[in-house]
Amino acid sequence: MYQELGISKETVSLVTNIEHELQDIYAKIDEICDLHSLKVLSSFHKHHISEVHFYSTTGYGYGDIGRDTIEKVFADVLGSEDALVRSQFISGTHALTVALFAYLRPGDLMLSISGMPYDTLHEVIGIKENASSLKAFGVGYHEIDLVNDDFDDDKIVDYLKNHKVRLIEIQRSKGYSTRKSISILKVQRIVSKIRKIDNEVIIMVDNCYCEFVESVTPIEVGCDVMVGSLIKNLGGGIAPNGAYIAGRSDLVELAGERLTCPGEGREVGPTLGINKQILQGLFLAPSVVAASLKTAILTARLLEELGYKVEPKYHEERVDIVQNIIFGNPDDLIHYCQGIQMASPIDSNAIPEAWDMPGYCDQVIMASGSFTQGSSIELSCDGPIREPYIAYQQGGLTYSYGKLGVMKAIEQLRKLK
Ligand SMILES: *Cc1c(COP(=O)(O)O)cnc(C)c1O
Repeated sequence: MYQELGISKETVSLVTNIEHELQDIYAKIDEICDLHSLKVLSSFHKHHISEVHFYSTTGYGYGDIGRDTIEKVFADVLGSEDALVRSQFISGTHALTVALFAYLRPGDLMLSISGMPYDTLHEVIGIKENASSLKAFGVGYHEIDLVNDDFDDDKIVDYLKNHKVRLIEIQRSKGYSTRKSISILKVQRIVSKIRKIDNEVIIMVDNCYCEFVESVTPIEVGCDVMVGSLIKNLGGGIAPNGAYIAGRSDLVELAGERLTCPGEGREVGPTLGINKQILQGLFLAPSVVAASLKTAILTARLLEELGYKVEPKYHEERVDIVQNIIFGNPDDLIHYCQGIQMASPIDSNAIPEAWDMPGYCDQVIMASGSFTQGSSIELSCDGPIREPYIAYQQGGLTYSYGKLGVMKAIEQLRKLK
C-alpha cells in the first residue's frame, strides 16, 4: 500500500522506529487535548447546544440564535468575557485589521513589542505605504525588537514610562521570521510588568496558530483581547472561513461596530448556513490541533535524523503548530514542499513552484492541497526562497494523514541524493 503512494520501505521503517520513541511526548499532547475537549464539551452543555443553533439567517441576520450562542461558547473556551466570531471576517489579517481600526484613533500610538509584525499587516499599519493604512489616518507606530527570542523588558518599560501608548500588539507565532514563537509564560511576565506602569493600555494578541496548544489563553494571563483565524486551529478544519476577536466586552463591542457599522454592530451578520460547521469545527479542534502537533513533532525528529536543522526540536516546548525545517539550500526546500503537495487529498497532481507572490520580496513556494482554500490547519508547507531556505510546515487534520504527508515529502528529498 505504501508503495502505491510512492513511499519506500526505508522510509516506512525509519518512521515506524522513530514513532516508538515519541510515545511519551505524544501522551502529553493527548492530555492537553483532553483538557480542551473538556472545556468545549462543558460549554456546549452549559449553553444547551441543540439543532436550533444550526439554523441559518440571511440578509441582515437579525436574531441569529446560533451565532449569538457560538460567540458565548467561544468566550467560555477562551476564558474571555465575550467574543465576536464571524464569517464576515475574510481572514485572520482582516480580523486583526478590524480590531486595530476599532481601538486606535487619530493621534493614538500603537506599539509592537514582538518586533516586526506579520507581513500582511505592514500595509495595514503603514510600515509599507498605503493610502488606507492606520498611519494615513494619523495613528503612530513604534516597534521594539525581541532579544534572544524574548521580550526586551527594560526597553518596553522605559518606552511606556516616556510615551502614552494606546495599544500594545504581541504576535505570538513567528510568521515568516527565524525567531521562536512566544510562550504564554513569557506573555504573562511582560503583561504583569506593563500593568505596573499602565493600567489602561490595550494589550492585543495575535494568537494565530497558538489556540489549544498550551493550557491557558492570553486573556487568562491578563491580555485584553486576542485574535485568530478559523481556517487555522479553532476552525478544526471544518469551518469554511471566518475569524474571531475575544476578550473584554467593551473591546468586543467596539470591534462589532467596526466590522459592520456604528449603531448596528453585532446585531447584524447573517450566518448563511455555517453555524453547524463552526460548532463542529470547534468540537473537533482540540483533536485536530493535537494531530497537527504530533505531525510537527514527528517531522522534527525525522528531519533531524536526516541531518537537517529544525526549530523547534522534537522534544522542545511548543507554543504553536508551526514546524520549521532549515534546509540550507533551495532544492531541498522545493522538493520537500512538492512532496507535501503530492500526499495532499486535493490537487495532489499539481506541482507547486516558487513564484513572485504579491506582498513578498522574495519568491515563495506554497504547498497546500486543502479542502478549504488556504487552510493551514490542514497539512501545508511553504517558504520564501531565500537563505537559509526555511520550510514553514503546519497542520494535519489527522495524525495518519500528517504522517503520510511527511513520508512522501522525505521520499522527494531522497530523490535528490
Ligand atoms: C496566519 C497568520 C495571520 C493571519 O493570516 P491570514 O492568512 O490573514 O488569516 C496573522 N498573524 C500570524 C502570526 C499568522 O500566522
